[in-house]
Amino acid sequence: MLFDTLGKLLEGRIQIGIILAVFFAYCFKKIFFKNGTGKWKSPFAEDSRTPLTPLVTDHAKRDETMKRAFTKKLANEKKWDAIVIGSGIGGLSTAALLSKAGLKVLVLEKHYKCGGACHTFREYGYEFDVGIHYVGNFIRPTLTRTLLEQISDGQIKFAKFDTNVERLIMDAMSPSQREYTITSGPDAFENQLIKQFPEEAQGIKEYFRLLKRAYSPQGSMSFFSFKLLPLWFINVLRFFGLPRLLSDFFALSKCSVKETVESHVKNKDLRYLLSYSSNGFLVPPSRISLPMMALLHIHCCEYGSCYPIGGASEMPYRIVPVIERSGGRVLMKANVSQILTEGGKVVGVRVGNKENSMVDIHAPIVISDAGMHNTLLDLLPERVAEKSPAWPLMKTIRPSCGNLSVFLGLRGTPEELGLTAQNIWAHAGSDLEEMVNQIFESTLPDALEKPYPALFLSSSAAKDPSWKDRYPDRSTLSVLTCAPYSWFSQWSGLPTKKRGDDYNTTKNTIGQHIVDEVTTLFPKLKNAIDYVSVGSAVTIEHFLVTKQGGTYNMEHDITRFGEEQTALLRPESGIEGLYFTGQDVTSCGFASCLYSGFLCASVVLKKRYLLLWELFNLHRKLYGMPKDRNDLCF
Ligand SMILES: Cc1cc2nc3c(=O)[nH]c(=O)nc-3n(C[C@H](O)[C@H](O)[C@H](O)COP(=O)(O)OP(=O)(O)OC[C@H]3O[C@@H](n4cnc5c(N)ncnc54)[C@H](O)[C@@H]3O)c2cc1C
Repeated sequence: MLFDTLGKLLEGRIQIGIILAVFFAYCFKKIFFKNGTGKWKSPFAEDSRTPLTPLVTDHAKRDETMKRAFTKKLANEKKWDAIVIGSGIGGLSTAALLSKAGLKVLVLEKHYKCGGACHTFREYGYEFDVGIHYVGNFIRPTLTRTLLEQISDGQIKFAKFDTNVERLIMDAMSPSQREYTITSGPDAFENQLIKQFPEEAQGIKEYFRLLKRAYSPQGSMSFFSFKLLPLWFINVLRFFGLPRLLSDFFALSKCSVKETVESHVKNKDLRYLLSYSSNGFLVPPSRISLPMMALLHIHCCEYGSCYPIGGASEMPYRIVPVIERSGGRVLMKANVSQILTEGGKVVGVRVGNKENSMVDIHAPIVISDAGMHNTLLDLLPERVAEKSPAWPLMKTIRPSCGNLSVFLGLRGTPEELGLTAQNIWAHAGSDLEEMVNQIFESTLPDALEKPYPALFLSSSAAKDPSWKDRYPDRSTLSVLTCAPYSWFSQWSGLPTKKRGDDYNTTKNTIGQHIVDEVTTLFPKLKNAIDYVSVGSAVTIEHFLVTKQGGTYNMEHDITRFGEEQTALLRPESGIEGLYFTGQDVTSCGFASCLYSGFLCASVVLKKRYLLLWELFNLHRKLYGMPKDRNDLCF
């Protein structure tokens, strides 16, 4: 009788329910309450902001930090707890958090300058940023800002863009040219579009409702949980179809921007306005996942974009001292040619590849900010690399599209030249899908003949309030666009400035088309141009060491943000002693890479969710409970 009742109780759904409840209770305890080893202190034990010091504008002084070169003596001066390959924001944020926890960390950077995509360069008395034109969410007291403050002594300050945060020029080169501006502020863009396209109000509201669902603390948390929870646990969740049920991020991650926009609104201009910023990911809207679009739009437009005062190099410049104060070192001109292994375990790295100048440096932990393709395909022996759960993705996820940057040095102040603190997108048409595909399908001869269909313009001179003191009567404008690696691959591997006349003629011809388009749109600039330089995918390949000059390392295709790929692109490499950080772990973007460092540190320190709790606690102490739930978004 008793067994009969029990049998009935445990039948069907109830049975599955009880088994699942017991299983999840066990996992919850094991995973969430698995404390750190207690060996390392919390990087967020106390507020480490210090009173703001003036910008250091003396280049020689800055170079002492930004260009400290690798020497055998410096690299071997102590026993390192961890080595970080690459000084991008992912590498530096990991290194800073580990240093604050008490580890001695050595950061090795191939370039002669620190910072990866955050580095700036100076030519002809002009300063240009490479990979930071706008960031979001650093004016408000968000969790992200607290994280940055705590690894930079609170020394990095940001200036907010104009309220009209973006300017869009459609059909830019034709008589039917149209222009729209995007206003920042809660719901501002949505309301603006409803006013401009009242007949599409319902579709607009529904589209923004989806964006807000995709960008939420719950969405961020589930994305990051997939990077922290054990893979076996994620597989169980996936087996029961739970990620899509429990997380809006995964529920929407298979929706492309194109199909979502087209299923909600009909007007062509409106469709363009709802998807234009996906162009920043260098894939057409049909291959951009809606949560990625939400991240970019809400993070940068809804809350207003901002720019680091003093330029992008302030990021590395202010983070390096935090690493070095704890006994760490950040050394440039240090090309890691190999990750050393013993019995399948990582034991250190080899710097240099010439037999007489190679140096082996040992540490029990190696963290790679050099991108997963580079790390698994080039730096490790295949028999070790193939042990990583991420190994199969090396074949299925391509490097992202290359990029072409035109750097313009201009005589005159931003005010005189009409340059403003906003981003400008100038597109030759109004069908983004068509334009991006047109670039992908173009051959080099096409590119040399035709005007360029999609441009992004950014003036750090106008965005940075410190600019006028640092570079009086001068301005800069950077013009960016995607340009396939294949156009320039024949010059790959040749040293910069020594790629020959053909290379220079090719890139400069495309560059000139772009300059012509820009000066047609903004005639005031024509007579102010004092300096022009063009960087291609091989420039990125050389300076940022990305596979095939991929602008953001791995392509930001919709599949990359699927459940399986999200879980496999994680800080743990599956190879003992080796961890990943940087944009391949999370996604491109300064804030995202900052969090890749946070995730990586939480795994290395064996703290996982505890580190998030510690950050949240400190944030709460400093700023109180967040007033806006999105202040907790990553
Ligand atoms: C042109 C461009 C424009 C961008 N615009 C913006 C923007 O406006 N806003 C925004 O938020 N984001 C932007 N991004 C993206 C953002 O800059 C990046 O996603 C982010 O900075 C990447 O950080 P990371 O740590 O992953 O790697 P990176 O910054 O790429 O750093 C990796 C470092 O590793 C080094 N390295 C690689 N291999 C080795 C090796 N074997 N030995 C030693 N060192 C090695 C490289 O030299 C490099 O310095 C842009 C990127 C680019 C390229």
